[in-house]
Amino acid sequence: DQPLLEVKDLKVSFQTYAGEVQAVRGVSFHLNKGEVLAIVGESGCGKSVTAQTIMRLIPNPPGVIKDGSILFNGEHDITKLSDKQMEKIRGKEMGMIFQDPMTSLNPTMQVGKQITEGLIKHQGMNKEDAMKRAIEMLSLVGMSNPESRVKQYPHEFSGGMRQRVMIALALACTPKLLIADEPTTALDVTIQAQIIKLMKKLSEQTSASIIVITHDLGIVADMAQRVIVMYAGKVVEQGTIDEIFYNSRHPYTWGLLRSVPRLDKSADEELVPIPGSPPDLFAPPVGCAFAARCPYAMGICMEKDPEHTLVSGQHSAACWLLHPDAPKVARPADIGG
Ligand code: SF4
Ligand code: MG
Repeated sequence: DQPLLEVKDLKVSFQTYAGEVQAVRGVSFHLNKGEVLAIVGESGCGKSVTAQTIMRLIPNPPGVIKDGSILFNGEHDITKLSDKQMEKIRGKEMGMIFQDPMTSLNPTMQVGKQITEGLIKHQGMNKEDAMKRAIEMLSLVGMSNPESRVKQYPHEFSGGMRQRVMIALALACTPKLLIADEPTTALDVTIQAQIIKLMKKLSEQTSASIIVITHDLGIVADMAQRVIVMYAGKVVEQGTIDEIFYNSRHPYTWGLLRSVPRLDKSADEELVPIPGSPPDLFAPPVGCAFAARCPYAMGICMEKDPEHTLVSGQHSAACWLLHPDAPKVARPADIGG
């Protein structure tokens, strides 16, 4: 079956007064129909820029797609569509959930009206049917009294409820693709769990494919089938949940697994942050971008950027340790799995 989304060698830069920031430096991956894919990595690794580029939400200027293609549903190369064509696809076939619901909610408009707007414009629904659908969506995301809730304004909802309104808004047009960028970071743990459960349930019901962007590996384990690990604007490892949690091969992934709290680990287990910080993307390093922070770095790591090596099936990592002539390094035992 054809994937819903095929990203090939995507490069995105930002032109600034200080020079060009190479935020995304040749990213390739695919998303299957009905699949939940997680993109993980520290902040500034290019995961949000990648997602926003897929939705063409990067302002140009300063953002520029330098190279690559994004094939959506086998027919459109998103990088080549006009703003007008893109607006249509976005309203009809894509939805986005942000960390801050107010990014997509209009504070001066009743939430029901906000949901019906897109349905009327992109789905050609009449006002009445659209309002029915808005009420149905609010009830689907777990809101009681949706008939009166549609008349309320965003500020009349709690943080968790606003998140639900945003999910209802994003899913009202039954998008084929839903992108959730740090969807629960601002919420407390109980509400986080509810929202994740809700997104999972809705994706199963509507068979939407989801890209979830997060630094929280607990969410990844709970929601996704496959994971992409990004570092300094590149994909450094990709694989299924099991492959990444139990058989990861990239030292950066090892660092992430150690440094990020997980819902399935007890709170007193020690978290070890990765020492150092990601490289400056004004002038990315010549070799492996992780070399300056990597305890296993070798001479070649400073000279040449490693290609992806296939580990098995769909599992691959970009690290010189996977070269047949590299010294054998075992995956550290303390990251368990
Ligand atoms: Fe570390 Fe070298 Fe692998 Fe980069 S290529 S992660 S520096 S061992
Ligand atoms: Mg981000």
